[in-house]
Amino acid sequence: MGNQISSDIIHINRCDNSFRDQIVELSGENAGLCFHCGSCANGCPFRDLMDYSPNGVLRMIQLGLRPSALECSTIWVCVGCNTCAVQCPMAIHIPAIMDSLCQIALAEGVKVAEPDILNFHQEFLNSVERYGRSHKLEIMLRYKIKKKNWFEDLAVGLKMLRKRKLHLLPSRVKNLFELKNMFRIKKQGVRL
Ligand code: SF4
Ligand code: SF4
Repeated sequence: MGNQISSDIIHINRCDNSFRDQIVELSGENAGLCFHCGSCANGCPFRDLMDYSPNGVLRMIQLGLRPSALECSTIWVCVGCNTCAVQCPMAIHIPAIMDSLCQIALAEGVKVAEPDILNFHQEFLNSVERYGRSHKLEIMLRYKIKKKNWFEDLAVGLKMLRKRKLHLLPSRVKNLFELKNMFRIKKQGVRL
């Protein structure tokens, strides 16, 4: 990934000056305000799992390094915990920027750096669309079917079942029709 950013810098014609504006429009946040104090990276609980620091991703946006920003793992590893946002002296809402980058990456068919994380997100949303609530057991089973890795978290799953943290049957919200309608409108109306 380091090579990717270097190659973007070398090939300056790959810099996309409209990228920052696109992110501003989509997220409502201006990555250009970041002056790289590093507070966000220091406080991020998931920094070790990311290829670039949160402000590293903002730097890519500032420089118009579109492919590097859309292909990095950081945008998928970010869980939107907001730790960075409350620490940022410029009040930049970084999770909103990460979400926007994920949306653009999906819309443009960019290779997802963390497909397992995307699979899990999709199964969570499918469950909410189906029941209006998350049915954790089904989410885990469907995720495992996609991943074809049945035994990795078996001990944790059995422990959760024993402690009744996983329900065998899903519960549904009353007005499921309205919710399904919202998902349908969202799917038809996604604009990037
Ligand atoms: S805390 Fe804010 S200003 Fe500091 S590096 Fe992170 S995003 Fe930039
Ligand atoms: S919102 Fe994302 S980038 Fe910010 S601290 Fe949490 S995991 Fe890290």
